[in-house]
Amino acid sequence: MNDSPSNSGLDLDSDSNCIFCKIVKKEMQTKIIYENDDFIAFNDIKPVSPTHILVIPKKHYKNLFEANDKDMLGKLLLAVKEVATEKGLGEGFRTVINTGDNGGQTVHHIHAHVLGGRFHKWPPG
Ligand code: 5GP
Ligand code: ZN
Repeated sequence: MNDSPSNSGLDLDSDSNCIFCKIVKKEMQTKIIYENDDFIAFNDIKPVSPTHILVIPKKHYKNLFEANDKDMLGKLLLAVKEVATEKGLGEGFRTVINTGDNGGQTVHHIHAHVLGGRFHKWPPG
């Protein structure tokens, strides 16, 4: 909680109800496996592949519809590539950005799933 009188705790880059913002702010204990200035990555709590990592911007963007920040979107994919490289996913990996209800998005803070360590068939479910 930001108690500065100038903004009364209002932080437009963050959503106090968002679980991923809590991870960014270290209000929820999660092992961070990758970090740069703008992104963090951590293991998914319910992995669907031997490697299942979530890469998220530190700033809160609800989803791909609402993220118009070209710089952030480009850097998100570069962060995915760095995570995949660091995790030794040279045989290939899948990147998924679920968007909205029909996309299966359950956490409303944009994130890229990085899935590796097995063959991923197409089409997905
Ligand atoms: P979505 O369905 O929105 O694309 O993906 C959200 C992902 O976040 C799911 O795969 C889910 O398992 C993961 N997840 C939800 N809550 C937590 C949490 O508290 N910690 C971690 N590490 N992963 C979470
Ligand atoms: Zn958030």
